[in-house]
Amino acid sequence: MDITSAEFVVSNSRADMCPQTHLPEYAFIGRSNVGKSSLINMLTKNPKLAMTSSTPGKTLLINHFLINKEWYLVDLPGYGYAQRGKKMMEKIQKLIEYYVLEREQLTCLFVLVDSRLDPQRIDLEFIEWLGENGIPFALIFTKADKQSAGKTKSNVSRYLEKLKEQWEELPPYFVSSSEKKTGREEILNYIEQINRS
Ligand code: GDP
Repeated sequence: MDITSAEFVVSNSRADMCPQTHLPEYAFIGRSNVGKSSLINMLTKNPKLAMTSSTPGKTLLINHFLINKEWYLVDLPGYGYAQRGKKMMEKIQKLIEYYVLEREQLTCLFVLVDSRLDPQRIDLEFIEWLGENGIPFALIFTKADKQSAGKTKSNVSRYLEKLKEQWEELPPYFVSSSEKKTGREEILNYIEQINRS
């Protein structure tokens, strides 16, 4: 799929105030600093579309971007900010829960994990929660350029092995680098394939 238009539509702190349309939504989530904003900017070929985590306040909101006037790319708040304090963490968690569980337009949730790291408990718990609630999701292993291709491959295999301990069926997964602009086609083709089905 080629992206011919990508427009910022709205930022919300409440999931029930998201756009009132029936267009499919593809949401992106992950721990702070996982590379979510960079990935969104890379996918849309717009270096400034998603504000990076250094922009105060932005990362606490649900951001909708209309793509090709056909679907929404949704930038969800990052989870696991220990430094934000308990109250804020709870607020973010509620927002995420509400969106993920109640938003009927959510078609696939892309969960980003850093390809360099061992499986992190917070991500594994989140993935487990998605499974328990029957939420369709896919994994994206980010920042692949930060290590050799061999190391990425072995980390991804180890991650999938870990998931196999809990799951009979593995989710779709992608490997990306926003720096080297890799993984873009695969992710966009996957979205296109779902949109057409
Ligand atoms: P977010 O908090 O998940 O939105 O993360 P950002 O997109 O703001 O990225 C966090 C940091 O990681 C920034 O310094 C980015 O430049 C860097 N980063 C993000 N993606 C990549 C990548 O694919 N490769 C490399 N080398 N650095 C990346």
